Formats: sequence, C-alpha cells, structure tokens
Amino acid sequence: MALKLPIYMDYHATTPVDPRVLDAMLPYFSGHFGNAASRSHPFGWEAEKAVDDARAQIAALMNADPREIIFTSGATESDNLAIKGVAEMYREKGDHIITSQIEHKAVLDTCKRLENDGFRVTYLPVDDTGMVRPESVAEAIDDKTILCSIMLANNEIGTINPVEEIGKICRSRGVLFHSDAVQGFGKIPFNVQTMSVDLASVTAHKIYGPKGVGALYVRRKSPRVRLQSQMDGGGHERGMRSGTLNVPGIVGFGKACEVAGLDMASEAERLIGFRERMRSEIQGKLEAVSLNGHPTRRLPGNLNLSFAYVEGESLLMGMKDIALSSGSACTSASLEPSYVLKALGVGDDMAHSSIRYGLGRFTTAEEVEFAIDLTIRTVERLREMSPLYELAREGVDLKTVQWEPH
Ligand code: PLP
Repeated sequence: MALKLPIYMDYHATTPVDPRVLDAMLPYFSGHFGNAASRSHPFGWEAEKAVDDARAQIAALMNADPREIIFTSGATESDNLAIKGVAEMYREKGDHIITSQIEHKAVLDTCKRLENDGFRVTYLPVDDTGMVRPESVAEAIDDKTILCSIMLANNEIGTINPVEEIGKICRSRGVLFHSDAVQGFGKIPFNVQTMSVDLASVTAHKIYGPKGVGALYVRRKSPRVRLQSQMDGGGHERGMRSGTLNVPGIVGFGKACEVAGLDMASEAERLIGFRERMRSEIQGKLEAVSLNGHPTRRLPGNLNLSFAYVEGESLLMGMKDIALSSGSACTSASLEPSYVLKALGVGDDMAHSSIRYGLGRFTTAEEVEFAIDLTIRTVERLREMSPLYELAREGVDLKTVQWEPH
C-alpha cells in the first residue's frame, strides 16, 4: 500500500482517537446527553452510570479505587490541582516541595508560582540518562517537606524514573508523593499501590482518547490525602473539582484505558522493535549520532537522537514529510535548546540538532522504513554542505578552533 504523507511520528504530543474509543463516546453527545449531576431523572442517572463505569476503567489501569479518581480538563489542571492543592492544604505542616529539573512545564511553572508565594522548592538534577536518583530525594527531604513530585516518564527523552523506590522513600518519611504519569500511563505498568503513589496526573489524549479530559488520582487511605480545591462551584468530584462533567470525554477516557490495558504488552513489544530498528539502522549508517535518554529504561515508542554537525531546523525542514518534534523550542524570537536535554548535560549544539521520534499504535513498518531512509538521506545531504563536518572529517578538533567574529 502506498504511504500517505505526511507521516505522524509525534505521539508524545498527542494521539488520534482510537475508533473503538470514538464508538463508545458517540452516543453521549446527543442521545444520552444528561448531566451526571442530575439526580432526579433517568437522563442524569444514565450519564452518572457512564461516568462511574469510566471511573472504574481508569482506576483499574492504575490499581486504584474508583472513588480516588477526580476528573479534570487534562493533566495541566491535574498537576496544578495536585501541587497547589497540597501546598495550600498542608501549609501549616511545612513549606518545602521537591521536584526534578526535567518535569513538564505544568509542574515546573506551578512550583515557580508557589515559590513566589513563599514556598521553598528543590529542583533535583538528573543523571545523564535523565533519571532522578532515589538517594537525591532522600537527601533533599527536610522536616518541612510536604510534597515530592516526580514524573513517571519524561515526554522528551522517554526515560522512566525509579518511581517505586522514590515512593518508598517518601512514604517512609511522611512526605506525600505526586507523579505526573501522563506519558507512561497506558503504555507501561503503573500501579499506585506497589509504587506508593499518593497523587497521579493522567490525561486521555496521550492514550488514544479525546483532548480536554484528564484525571487526578487522590489516595483515600493510608494516607488519606486532602486537597484545597482550586475551582469554586457546585462541589462536584468530592468537592475537589467543581464543574459539570464532560461525559462523552470521560466515557472515551475510560474506554481508552480499557483498550490500553488489553493491548499494553503487545503494543510495547511492537514499538520497542520499531524503535530499536530505527536506532540501529540510523546509527549503523551514520556516524556521530547519539541517543538521548536511557538505552533501555525508556518508553517503548520514544527515540530521541542528536545528529552532530547538522542544524536542527534544517533537519526538520528536510524531513517535512514526517511530523516530528525537535529539541529546539522556538520561544518568542530566540531559539532555546531544550531544558530537558540541557539538564542531561547535552551541549547546546547537540540539543539543537536533536529529533524526537514518537511512535504509536498506528505506526506501520513501512512508515518506520520511510523515516529511517529519509533521516539518513537528509543528514548526509546536510553534512555534505557543512564546513564543520568537513573539518571534523579532516581530523580537526572543533573544540580547539578559534572562530573569527564577523
Ligand atoms: N505532563 C506531561 C509529562 C505531558 O507530556 C503533558 C502533555 O504534553 C502534560 C503534562 C499536559 O497534559 P495536558 O495536555 O492534558 O494538559
């Protein structure tokens, strides 16, 4: 079958809705349109039942009790609710929060705001594979630490954190543990019991569900977590998040979890096969290509590579037939290298020339072959035009070159 271009390889940014998910959602837009909070008639009961079923499906995928699932508009809101909600509720107990330098902005910017409000935040460094060392969490805890927030897996480099060890440390020291589980949930096993997680953020659109619906897991016992709500209103979701529930979205999220649970092992195996084929073929044919992140402890569908002697933007331009993401973030006028790659110790040049390939459920073997071929051809072409590459090939150590300003 002919390839349809452009190819989508940006599954960390978002995913298409799975047809099984869409089928489950459709009846709830017009036929079964009731408000799940309407207790006095069948329209409401039907909607409430659908929400309860979805709550159970989501809870099952993380080994939680359905009553511990609080629906939100997505993981940005879940992260805000978890961190601000704990900070405000436990302020009397302490003023210290621990997180890592490579969290998503929804966590980092929330922490920054709390710093402005007088909280102390420790941003833990990561090792050169992007992993938080559990001992660094233990060392950072003081008698005023109320919360530790460490992601399950990173969205750029795919590295999976030792969440179970970190959870154990937090539990033994009486510190609440939040995990932004967005990128790992539904793709790798995630268990709030064995991992001692007290709060967890998840979102539907990264696991083939709709955009604009997420959830926060909030532990009910041992310990019971209390949160200061961030939205005032009708007292929905045990008073933690007011607002009429997005019933079709929630139904879709539930179905997406059910499908993810059934397909997780086979999907992971298939994607790891694709990822490793890409890595070995690209690194086999091109020199000076480095892998960012951990070689094995990474999300099945994540491959992040840096290509020396090429410029990231030109690389992306040359690969327009594939929807990809790069390690350069265009912030206003400047081109900033990714803060995640910088935290791993990747130099600016290599961070700028990095590409994140995000593979997912609908990625085919033909698409993988096309991406391998296009990457190799584009990098070779750009290097042929690169004076830096020429110097490097002649054996010149580029670090010793004195550049003339002009
Ligand atoms: N946390 C992580 C790790 C993410 O990758 C994302 C999405 O990019 C978010 C949080 C935010 O999720 P949402 O788009 O549902 O607000």
